[in-house]
Amino acid sequence: MRIDMVSEHASPLAALGGVDAGGQNVHVAELANGLARRGHQVVVHTRRDSTELPATVQAAPGVTVEHVPAGPPRPIPKDELLPYMAEFGDHLSVRWGLQQPDVVHAHFWMSGVAARRGLTGIDVPVLQTFHALGRVKRRHQGAKDPSPPQRERIEAELARTADLVVATCSDEVSELTELGVPEERTAVVPCGIDLTKFVPAGPSTARTDRPRILSIGRLVERKGVDTVITALAGVPDAELVIAGGPERSTWDSDPEIARLRSVAERAGVADRVDFRGQVTHADAPALYRSADVVVSAPWYEPFGTVPLEAMACGVVPVVTAVGGHLDTVIDGETGLLVPPRDSHALASRLRALLARPRWRCELGSTGAEHVRARYGWDRLVRETESVYRRALDHSEPLPVAGSR
Ligand code: UDP
Repeated sequence: MRIDMVSEHASPLAALGGVDAGGQNVHVAELANGLARRGHQVVVHTRRDSTELPATVQAAPGVTVEHVPAGPPRPIPKDELLPYMAEFGDHLSVRWGLQQPDVVHAHFWMSGVAARRGLTGIDVPVLQTFHALGRVKRRHQGAKDPSPPQRERIEAELARTADLVVATCSDEVSELTELGVPEERTAVVPCGIDLTKFVPAGPSTARTDRPRILSIGRLVERKGVDTVITALAGVPDAELVIAGGPERSTWDSDPEIARLRSVAERAGVADRVDFRGQVTHADAPALYRSADVVVSAPWYEPFGTVPLEAMACGVVPVVTAVGGHLDTVIDGETGLLVPPRDSHALASRLRALLARPRWRCELGSTGAEHVRARYGWDRLVRETESVYRRALDHSEPLPVAGSR
């Protein structure tokens, strides 16, 4: 198949850990590479956000990344990209007029907007993966949600009119059903883990004698890192390593770093919190292995790759019982679930785990087996491929009206 993916803000070539670079980048890169290994031709269309970027990059055998001119060629927060999606879509339309793909897979809602515009008059099945749903974001972030006001309406339209919506967890399917998407037009394919790199044995980042709690991910408010810092006050002696966040040179002016630092001061744990900044994805396994426990405490989580990476490295995740975590972490078997925004509950689970090394070991090895059996990219790439075939088998001409 010739598979064209659209991933407007999340380039498979971008560094991870910045405000807008996280699981979606990894997901798109791994899917593209895995599909190409199975003999498909994959093109990923992503916005050109630097003048340095060439129009086309051969990212791997069978995978081309095309940098689409849409808006100024500089980094722009993803919530400000909607006005450029028409230009993005027009570029796709020209591109697809010359060479028609067999399927189009849009990642994130705005990619759906660009893909639909690009496919005007072209009959190709379109699959949509949202990665996050605006209605869930709005529910949790309220007025603090910087998404454009049209997001929820457009998302609902995209969901109802896609040939298939590829959700990443069952919680998302419930949300889609509420939006009026028939369940037979949905499929669940979780995100995967690179099981060659995220393994229990291997090098480990240097550490102190203190029990180590690791938090890794983007430093944005909804990730609940403040809850983890507050919980540390209830876990005597432990240190908290926080990886992720903006460039170190900007820390003194970064509002989220300032907020988290002051949370640590107020909780009296500043001397036990170690901000590491962004680590490369290649260095992440060694950092996971250096930890006794990994914490991820978001208010909501469309999928959540971090608990799976922790489990794959044999480290127990303690995570909030939200979104994708409900599918990936089996409470008391592969990790522990805690309520969101509850630093007391989190501290109590952390204390219990840190006090019982044998229990940690048992959970850690069950978690590692669970991830190996279910979340390898090879398996998920095959599942994605069969979802594409399902869309090709059932594709009907697009309705003339509406956003398609
Ligand atoms: N990550 C990383 N370096 C960092 C911070 C995060 O490599 O400094 C990676 C992390 O290992 C994981 C991804 O970024 O693979 C975060 O994915 P997740 O689904 O947990 O959260 P998202 O960022 O998509 O909301």
